[in-house]
Amino acid sequence: MLMSLIIPCYNEQESIRMFHKETTEVMGKMDCSYELLFIDDGSKDQTLSILKELALQDAHVTYLSFSRNFGKEAAMYAGFCNASGDYVAVMDADLQDPPALLPQMLKLLQYGEYDSVAARRDSREGEPPVRSWFAKKFYQVINRISDADIVDGARDFRLMKREMVEAIVSMGECNRFSKGIFGWIGFRTYWMSYGNIARAAGQSKWNFWKLFQYGVGGIINFSNAPLSIASWFGMFMTFCSFVSLLFIVLRKVLFGNSVDGWASTICVIILIGGIQLFCLGIMGQYIAKTYMETKHRPHYIISEANKADVEKIR
Ligand code: UDP
Ligand code: MG
Repeated sequence: MLMSLIIPCYNEQESIRMFHKETTEVMGKMDCSYELLFIDDGSKDQTLSILKELALQDAHVTYLSFSRNFGKEAAMYAGFCNASGDYVAVMDADLQDPPALLPQMLKLLQYGEYDSVAARRDSREGEPPVRSWFAKKFYQVINRISDADIVDGARDFRLMKREMVEAIVSMGECNRFSKGIFGWIGFRTYWMSYGNIARAAGQSKWNFWKLFQYGVGGIINFSNAPLSIASWFGMFMTFCSFVSLLFIVLRKVLFGNSVDGWASTICVIILIGGIQLFCLGIMGQYIAKTYMETKHRPHYIISEANKADVEKIR
């Protein structure tokens, strides 16, 4: 039985050695063969040279190196496409996903009736309150309007069986949102809670704005509900205009002509203009995604690897 650990790395020179040491300790105690599949996502620091060094010392280490930064989603996809294990896990390089959970996760898969074991943080300690609030709202909204079924606090850290990996690889969309994909493909998932762990070293690659865009992208990738917002707005505004039409006609009939209402007319014009642009924007988002999807560009380009038969472009 082989276990593959997929580790996306982008500028992780401070944490990779630590990660390798800790994971090797844990895996050494487990009764299975394993590979550590590092994906260097176009790092600009020493990440790749550290990986090469580790690969020379440790035969468990394999790496794929992208020709540029394609993002964590692409790195995970490359990992799934090239991992050969019967069990496959995704982990962050910064030790926020504790390797110590792996033995228990594997046991659950081997002896339980689950296809994957996923980790979730049970607290958001140490995070700005505004970010927590938005995160909470995001999970509420996406679960209500899509099939994606995402648990609050879910991380990308999970161990899964081969069948699940095949299903993920078969979803070849280029606008990828893994949290949604994991939920969409189904299978039986066990949720393992653990307390939040701070990054071991280096810096997070996410800021509030990036996270916000990631969330909006996730919703658009997994739901058409925002499009119907446009129709509802349209219907609501039509209703309002009928009511005001009635009001104007009645006023004319009952009280005669008047030139009042200049300000309110401008207000209504601006309001309707705003709503129209907003709805056009929603449509634009979907069209943009469709446009990118129809180009069928590769998800990633590998410039270097020490693993046999990798698909260099996919
Ligand atoms: N990562 C990546 N490509 C990117 C950004 C991040 O491969 O463009 C990797 C990063 O090296 C880390 C993981 O994705 O292993 C999670 O990133 P980070 O720790 O910055 O995110 P956070 O844990 O703060 O959500
Ligand atoms: Mg992290």
